[in-house]
Amino acid sequence: KTNISSVLKNLGIQELNPAYSTGNHWAASSNAKTIDSYSPVDGKKIASVQVATADDYETVMKKAEEAFVFWRGLPAPKRGDIVRQFGDALRESKEDLGTLVSYEMGKSLQEGFGEVQEMIDICDFAVGLSRQLYGLTMHSERPNHRMYEQWHPMGIVGIISAFNFPVAVWAWNTALAWVCGNVCVWKPSSKTPLCAVACQHIIAKVLKANDLPEGISSLLIGNAVGDMMNNDKRIPLVSFTGSTRIGRMVSTAVAGRFGRSILELGGNNAIIISKDADLDMSIIGAVFGAVGTAGQRCTSTRRLIIHEDIYEDFKNKLVKAYGQLRIGDPLDQHNHVGPLIDVYAADMYTDAIEKGKKEGARFVVEGGVLSGDQYSSGCYVKPCVAEVENHFDIVQEETFAPILYLIKYKTLDEAIALQNGVPQGLSSAIMTLNLREAEQFLSAAGSDCGIANVNIGTSGAEIGGAFGGEKETGGGRESGSDAWKGYMRRQTNTINYANTLPLAQGIKFDL
Ligand code: NAD
Repeated sequence: KTNISSVLKNLGIQELNPAYSTGNHWAASSNAKTIDSYSPVDGKKIASVQVATADDYETVMKKAEEAFVFWRGLPAPKRGDIVRQFGDALRESKEDLGTLVSYEMGKSLQEGFGEVQEMIDICDFAVGLSRQLYGLTMHSERPNHRMYEQWHPMGIVGIISAFNFPVAVWAWNTALAWVCGNVCVWKPSSKTPLCAVACQHIIAKVLKANDLPEGISSLLIGNAVGDMMNNDKRIPLVSFTGSTRIGRMVSTAVAGRFGRSILELGGNNAIIISKDADLDMSIIGAVFGAVGTAGQRCTSTRRLIIHEDIYEDFKNKLVKAYGQLRIGDPLDQHNHVGPLIDVYAADMYTDAIEKGKKEGARFVVEGGVLSGDQYSSGCYVKPCVAEVENHFDIVQEETFAPILYLIKYKTLDEAIALQNGVPQGLSSAIMTLNLREAEQFLSAAGSDCGIANVNIGTSGAEIGGAFGGEKETGGGRESGSDAWKGYMRRQTNTINYANTLPLAQGIKFDL
């Protein structure tokens, strides 16, 4: 049995944790308000964290501004070396941090470890990147001129993160932002503040060992901090991960001051199951996608769009597979499905089922909130499956819970239209062994999502690719490929080494 108190001790978590940290400096706030973190696993209180005030926010911002002046002057490969050490520190803490993720958020232990592995992977990626950060060289139209572009850091990057990836989302942002020369201020979800406190302790040790100033990595706890960041001109970039509803508020506020935002918002992801699919593989992809993290991934599979010829067969296989799911303590590796984040999430799940039934959803696997000793937190629910039509209001929304919708199709054109026929555009997949179908799905006339997979489910992305989605998913990209450009400002430079001053476009201007 996992010893949670030793995990907390190893990670530096106290009974009452300070409201903010600028690195090694942790400060108790004058605020008496605290956030108590309860585990959805067993309903027990884990620890508390103070809530930051406006004064605390100012202290953090001042330190961050000072730190930026120092950090941007450090060569990028040197910054990369700090990120390399951070990756090593994460390797050492992987078991403890992964366990805390599982206990505070409720995802399975394997997924908790996987989340920390993602942090390690993005550090490795960022280290390599720190010797790249390439700009282009262009040919000038003027003789004896050179033209090129370079990428500069932006300044303070504000990171606002969701509860469901309580540690990895921060690392996706920070690892890149740091090698790019930015300093970061993190406001984590108030539902998982202890994971954030643990991460801050891990990076703080690395910064201290390298004698680096306060302010390179800061943490601020409390919901009000999000709004302070949105409206703060000292933050040129806000990277927001969360719901479309809050994301819309963030993006409007940040755009109103001409700031930049990276938005990673809700998804409504579908898998198209062709009649030419490998059905066994499709079952695994669909079930893991729908019930993994109890349906609380932005890339969770919410809809299956199934060809009419195999619809009944596939539905029966799916119902059978759902019958084998073991729901319970996520720290027990025997279980497939853990709890939802809190009882409010369980209420939302119940409401969605009711709403669906009113609209005509037919449940082939019934849902319900589980009760009894091992489910005493009130957060455990039954993954369920319903036959629906794509236009139902409830199907058009993202319900952050393990509810899977089945939809029937005749032609691939129709399936693609159904898959695209929702407001969100994050992840999508087709299961088919037919090359023509796969290519049509990936073409410009195919999926309209930021992620489109063939013979893989919608959930679980690698850090090497750019991650993000279109439409109401917000349009942001994080992680791999050239997502680093989102954390830098581009500057175009023209240098004249002639002894005349020719103007562009051949314009004559004689004095
Ligand atoms: P949420 O929108 O409720 O909260 C996200 C964050 O916003 C939290 O830190 C919260 O405290 C903060 N916040 C609240 N009000 C704010 C305000 N006015 N200004 C600034 N910040 C504010 O989301 P959640 O319930 O924590 O997470 C689930 C949602 O996140 C789902 O919709 C999921 O799809 C999405 N998500 C998206 C991605 C992605 O990469 N696309 C990844 C993970 C989660």
